[in-house]
Formats: sequence, C-alpha cells, structure tokens
Amino acid sequence: MSEKPVVLEVSHLKKYFKAGANAVLKAVDDVTFNIHEGETLGLVGESGCGKTTCGRTCIALYDKTDGMVKYKGQDVHTLKGKELKAFRKDAQMIFQDPYASLNPRMTVADIIAEGIDIHGLAANHKERTEKVYHYLDLVGLNKEHANRFVHEFSGGQRQRIGIARALAVEPKFIMCDEPISALDVSIQAQIVNLLIRLQKDMGLTYLFVAHDLSMVKHISDRIAVMYLGVVAELTTSAELYDHPLHPYTQALLSAIPIPDPEIERKRSANRIKLEGDVPSPINPPAGCRFKGRCKYATELCDKQVPELKEVSPGHFVACHLY
Ligand code: SF4
Repeated sequence: MSEKPVVLEVSHLKKYFKAGANAVLKAVDDVTFNIHEGETLGLVGESGCGKTTCGRTCIALYDKTDGMVKYKGQDVHTLKGKELKAFRKDAQMIFQDPYASLNPRMTVADIIAEGIDIHGLAANHKERTEKVYHYLDLVGLNKEHANRFVHEFSGGQRQRIGIARALAVEPKFIMCDEPISALDVSIQAQIVNLLIRLQKDMGLTYLFVAHDLSMVKHISDRIAVMYLGVVAELTTSAELYDHPLHPYTQALLSAIPIPDPEIERKRSANRIKLEGDVPSPINPPAGCRFKGRCKYATELCDKQVPELKEVSPGHFVACHLY
C-alpha cells in the first residue's frame, strides 16, 4: 500500500464540542493517520469513542478544532467555492441508518439522481435515467426499482440505494459510517462484499467506521482502534488480528465469538473482559485514557499520556508497555 499516493492525511486532528457553560467534550483529541489510494482504513471503537466525529471531520462535515486534514494535499477545512464543490463530489458518505438517511417522499430515481443534478453530470433527462439504471444495476438492484419509494424496500436494499446515491457522483473517496451495523447479520456480509467489489472495480478509497472488529477485518487493509478520542493502535488488518498489542485491542478481539464450540470453550478461560465503563469524554482521565479498565496499569499510566509509537514497521501502539 505504501507506494500508492496518500489520499487523506490526518494530522493531530482535534474536534471538541461545547457541553454546557464550562465543559468541553473532547470527541477527537489528537488523531493522526493517513489513507492511501485504493486502500480501506477501518476506524474501530466502542460507541462514543469519537470515530464517527473523526470521520465526519475528515470530510469537512464538521469544522476542526485543531490539527489538519488534507485531501490530495489540500486542507479540507479551508476549501471554498468551486474547490469545495469538487471536494463534496469527490468525497462521499454512506450512512449508518438506511432508514433515516433516505428521503421517504422521493422516488429511488430522484434520490440517486440528486447528486447527478447538483454536479451537472447528465446532459439531459435520458442520460440521467440511464445513469440511474446503471447505478441501480451496479449495486444489485434493477430499473424496475427506480420509480418506487424507499418504504417498499428491505434494510439491505435501502443500504444498496444509499450506496448507489454515493456512487452516482463518481466519487474517489467514501466515508462509510457504520454502514452495516443497522442490518441483519445475514445481510451484513452481502453489503461488505458489494463494497469490496465496487472498490476494486472503481478504484475507490474507503474510511470504514465500525464499532466491532469482526466484519472490519474482511474489508480493511489497515485498522485504527480508537478509545475515548485517541488512537490506541494502528496497523495492518492481519497484524492487528495476529499480534494485537494494546490491552484494549486484545479485549475487543477476545470479545468476538468464534463459531466453533471447542475453540470458544478454550478461549473463554483466557478471555480478557473489559471491566468498568468508558469514562466521559467531557472529563477524560489524565495519563492513559484506558487506565481505569486496564489490568496492566501502573503509576506511569496515571501520570503520562502514552504516545502513539511505531514499535515494528507499520505497527503503531499507544501504551507504556511498549
Ligand atoms: Fe494499560 Fe498503561 Fe498501556 Fe494504558 S498505558 S493501556 S493503562 S498498560
């Protein structure tokens, strides 16, 4: 991957929100990573860890508080006019909830063609209709679906419509915001496989936000594990599963069930349980943010924030154990 050009460069990104008169919610608090062309970076963590806020800040849906996000070398938070419009076309989003993200009063054709119209990508109505049919076909639907309304479709089909809508403006980069978590488990693999095929066929780059590590493995080249606004570990998908280093990553992996009762029985004896609750991002603890739930915590973890360090080529971890 490293020889491919960097598409998205995120450095020391911070995104804070006001939470009352004197409180600040530190949703993203110094996050650094980059994504190469044609790559999928999985961004994983429990609910409230800041992964969705981070993804939305990366595509300039939110202003940043500090740090920098560059898309193909351009600072996304300073884009204006034509450059901003071009970025809005290049960088699309697939939403978590295919029920809430599609307008129930619009036909499927109009939902998919909305971006085509905004960006002037069809010369006339005939071309617009042909494009709608093309994108329906690409996502496994067909032209008979074009004049229907979203309530007539299942969750998986609605997510396919959401994907067609994103593709219709010919994007290069897609922020997939938990695109499978609202779907039945039986449908999740279908949508992941569809996204993998589209990526190969169209040369897309993905930031794939998810709350568990099980499905992310199949789609991600590299994975960043987030905990309470910071990156705990970042490495290739294979390395993360084979040699997880951060105690939080180890706990997340240990929670994934394996569909083999014999292996499950052996694993449960060694399972690393996550004790305690995720602390509030309004008053994150000093030192290591994971210390309250970590069985290896020492005095140093209380006092000093662990930096994200490269401990082997391409494997970064933020923990005083390394
Ligand atoms: Fe645990 Fe300390 Fe490592 Fe944090 S820095 S994960 S508390 S050992």
